Amino acid sequence: MSIKDKPNPSRSRLIGNILLGVSGLFLLGNLFLPALLGPRPTGAPYSLFIHQVQEGEVSQVSVGQNQILYQLKGENGAPGQVLTTTPIFDLELPKLLESKGIEFAAAPPPKNGWFTSLLGWVVPPLIFVAIWQFFVARGGGGGQQGVLSIGKSKAKVYVEGESAKITFADVAGVEEAKTELVEIVDFLKSPGRFTDIGARIPKGVLLVGPPGTGKTLLAKAVAGEAGVPFFSISGSEFVEMFVGVGSSRVRDLFEQAKKQAPCIIFIDELDAIGKSRNSGGFYGGNDEREQTLNQLLTEMDGFAAGDATVIVLAATNRPESLDSALLRPGRFDRQVLVDRPDLAGREAILNIHSQKVKLGVDVNLRAIATRTPGFAGADLANLVNEAALLAARNHRLTVAQEDFAEAIERVVAGLEKKSRVLNETEKKIVAYHEVGHAIVGAMTTGSGRVEKISIVPRGMAALGYTLQLPTEDRFLKDETELRGEIATLLGGRSAEEIVFGSITTGASNDLQRATDLAERMVTTYGMSKVLGPLAYQQGQQSMFLGNGSSNPRRAVSEETSQAIDREVKEIVEGAHEQALSLLRNNRELLETITAQLLETEVIEGETLYALLGQVKAAAEAPKTVLV
Ligand code: ADP
Ligand code: MG
Ligand code: ZN
Repeated sequence: MSIKDKPNPSRSRLIGNILLGVSGLFLLGNLFLPALLGPRPTGAPYSLFIHQVQEGEVSQVSVGQNQILYQLKGENGAPGQVLTTTPIFDLELPKLLESKGIEFAAAPPPKNGWFTSLLGWVVPPLIFVAIWQFFVARGGGGGQQGVLSIGKSKAKVYVEGESAKITFADVAGVEEAKTELVEIVDFLKSPGRFTDIGARIPKGVLLVGPPGTGKTLLAKAVAGEAGVPFFSISGSEFVEMFVGVGSSRVRDLFEQAKKQAPCIIFIDELDAIGKSRNSGGFYGGNDEREQTLNQLLTEMDGFAAGDATVIVLAATNRPESLDSALLRPGRFDRQVLVDRPDLAGREAILNIHSQKVKLGVDVNLRAIATRTPGFAGADLANLVNEAALLAARNHRLTVAQEDFAEAIERVVAGLEKKSRVLNETEKKIVAYHEVGHAIVGAMTTGSGRVEKISIVPRGMAALGYTLQLPTEDRFLKDETELRGEIATLLGGRSAEEIVFGSITTGASNDLQRATDLAERMVTTYGMSKVLGPLAYQQGQQSMFLGNGSSNPRRAVSEETSQAIDREVKEIVEGAHEQALSLLRNNRELLETITAQLLETEVIEGETLYALLGQVKAAAEAPKTVLV
């Protein structure tokens, strides 16, 4: 696929502007250049000039409107210094000059001859042309993205049929979206079939999904399959500092597209322009964005039935923030969900991307897919590349399974920081902490199987980590599992309490996550018997960016608010008790595993399963009664 710029229809207007600019500069050049190029004459007071004339020291005088230029007699008849003075309205001057026999004229004498005046006329336009050329070159040809083209649309056009064409075969894991878009391809290929029967072809299709799931890729695939031009522009490119620029870009884009119909306009990051108009927030309205949005609405209403087939595809990961006017019938009336891929989808995506690298015989894509829940298409593409880089770095000819394993950890936990050293005490604390997580994790359901414990620091935050991976894709979790997850999160801190009797700062992230989870159980999932199946969180939680982002709480009474706090606290404390009693009952095992971890720094695989297989359930029931 290649990027081509559209011929620029208003080039002539542009040149007109430039000529205006040129003539302006040109005038300036004529005024200043001669003075700049010649040796600068020294200014003298008028009285001195008269005095010098009277003393017979002056050889030549040139009287101009605003300036008198005069030359002194040099020694032995050689030409002397050139001076200037500001004229005074003095009718006696010619008489005086004549009486002294001084040559004088009314026009300024040509100081440096024809060359200077030629320079004066030619250089300024040359400079201007050079500047123009510079911006044109920077704008990537056609001057479209240069400073001089402020109002033009910045759309890139992908013309199909050239080099690597993207098709639906390049996209995997988003089958529902593909099915919907196949229909769009049909519209573009044979619009007649639909219009003949009286059906209205949809104008706008909104691709909704988290970043990196292949929305842009899908839009390109639609263009590729249909064999039509593809205008691509990002919403943020519409929004400029200058009021009115965005809307003129929109107008321009649609104008160009209509000429190329049937075609696709793809607007990425639609939320940049399409944000709800009443969510102006603290800053009040945003005139520029509103104008741009209005123009977009106008254009979408503009091409009616019978018009050329232009289908607008747009992508966003924040559909809830879009202005409702955009979602009305006749505009983006179709929404296609592009979600993160499931297990089979991930395997298919890995399959696509690993075609580009040389895989070793031991590579099992299915196993990799199992270990990467939550990864979007872009993450998986990145993972394959990361694994290939690792293999190359280790001078191997093919990518092995272990490269993938390490690449996953890299992507998940950040790069290994071997340089960070913990002192012996810290290392011991971290070791007990991580083993605490692992033992509690082994006995509770909900957060997956413990795969690896490590006290090798990674990334910025973690000093050590316990890696838990789900054995299958899970979409729903029940209350017991969530409580287990909270207990596991508190396992690290609980181990520190039991062994050292004190707590370090290392558990803050665990506590944060545990508390968040408990709060969501009460306020979002309605899992509290006291508060009932009510959602205390306002609005609908974004279904994609879901986990951490907490919505504002619904307006609740003081009592309810206190009840929520009490419930959250009870859940967390209950889980803490559960973790403590579990660890107390496995005190010896805690010591054994920690000792081994301190020695090897990492325990994983069969060794770890064997060790954790010895974990005994808590002897006594947790003290706190769970509500
Ligand atoms: P989005 O626009 O949703 O943020 P992109 O389409 O830009 O995501 O995806 C970035 C890259 O990730 C793509 O170019 C492709 O290499 C890879 N990718 C993402 N999703 C998929 C998918 N479903 N199938 C194959 N590759 C994908
Ligand atoms: Mg994109
Ligand atoms: Zn921890």
